[in-house]
Amino acid sequence: MATHAQKYCDELYRRVVERNANEPEFHQTVKEVLGSLVDVIEKHPEYIELGIVERIVEPERQFMFRVPWMDDAGNVQVNRGFRVQFNSAIGPYKGGLRFHPSVNLSIIKFLGFEQTFKNSLTSLPMGGGKGGSDFNPRGKSDAEVMRFCQSFMTELYRYIGPDTDVPAGDLGVGGREIGYLFGQYKRIKGSFENGVLTGKGLSFGGSLARPEATGFGISYFCQEMLKSKGTSFEGKTVALSGFGNVTWGTAIKVTELGGKVVTLSGPDGYIYDPDGVNGEKIDYLLEMRASCRDKVQDYADKYGVAFFPGEKPWGVKVDVVIPCATQNDIHTEDAKKIVANGVKFVCEGANMPCTNEAVDYFLANGVYVGPSKAANAGGVSVSGLEMSQNSMRIAWSFEEVDAKLKDIMLNIYRNASMAAEEYGHKDNLVIGANIAGFIKVAEAMKAQGLV
Ligand code: GLU
Repeated sequence: MATHAQKYCDELYRRVVERNANEPEFHQTVKEVLGSLVDVIEKHPEYIELGIVERIVEPERQFMFRVPWMDDAGNVQVNRGFRVQFNSAIGPYKGGLRFHPSVNLSIIKFLGFEQTFKNSLTSLPMGGGKGGSDFNPRGKSDAEVMRFCQSFMTELYRYIGPDTDVPAGDLGVGGREIGYLFGQYKRIKGSFENGVLTGKGLSFGGSLARPEATGFGISYFCQEMLKSKGTSFEGKTVALSGFGNVTWGTAIKVTELGGKVVTLSGPDGYIYDPDGVNGEKIDYLLEMRASCRDKVQDYADKYGVAFFPGEKPWGVKVDVVIPCATQNDIHTEDAKKIVANGVKFVCEGANMPCTNEAVDYFLANGVYVGPSKAANAGGVSVSGLEMSQNSMRIAWSFEEVDAKLKDIMLNIYRNASMAAEEYGHKDNLVIGANIAGFIKVAEAMKAQGLV
């Protein structure tokens, strides 16, 4: 028999789908989160009465704007810009900007919704937001990227600020783009407010260890998962997907912790390196990214390893799987191959890299799953630490930041795992992370009245 809470969540999900038509990624994340909250809502009927759950699935504010710019050939280009300010109950909106041709409102809303819970899990005072553009950085010159960033910021600046909304990077937005965006913000505002963006260069308020943070955080989180089952990365083979910033940081730390990374992937296929992606081969990922060619085959050509065009690495027999590319990288058919290969640990590095059905398949087959909201929270955590350093006008050492990051990740693991156990779902970190992230935001919303 469906409980009152269950019926409420089902009905709310139905309304979300109806009111936000054509937003499949957003529906997907709302479904996953609502599915995890039934027991909590059962215990806290006030979350229904005060409309907390209903409010949490509705962004506080969403902006869509025109971004006109001129390419090197003198042609006018028009892209679309987005910023979704999802939830400010526990701090200023915080979340990255994604530049990728696939970007649309659904993708930005799914990311902003996830970010709300992820940021809550970090224990730092950050609300949830996300933005970006359908601008495609592939093949663009440096000057084109700069002109695009300047035009984008000329509109975005009016919605953001160090105490209101603090964007950062995501796919297609790294140190170079943040630099151009910050330069334009500073020029428009006429004051040096470097807490408005994170992921900045070190010379103007960036934090040491920010580039490494997401991948290091994933590795620390996954290490806790392994440790809780009496094992470690030592001697384990690891399949990664992607070859961008998250994959890079994860490859460094997993290797340092004794694991061997054997796969990488790109839009063109995947590579298999039986000797491990390590040492200077990891540095080469930075070159591949900077080239804007978006081809992982370059790695295979350079190091003479096998390249599998048009395929994903999920059929390779390994011990640990960490998808670091983008959303919906692992579908049920991939999950079946992963389970058939005897994999016991899947840790989500990218945002929502597994479909809901794939996650359900893993859980039903005894795979220990680290959900992205928890596992990849290291990036935004160090962004939070960058904000603290900017406010204090000081800079911590790499070791200080890394130690704080590690503490945060262990804390997230502990909280997610305890919440799962408390609500009768031991070892289900997906439910645990959703519950732990939700309760903090819900309590803050409760205290702040109907806003
Ligand atoms: N884009 C990253 C994420 O998905 C980082 C966001 C940030 O640093 O604000 O969490």
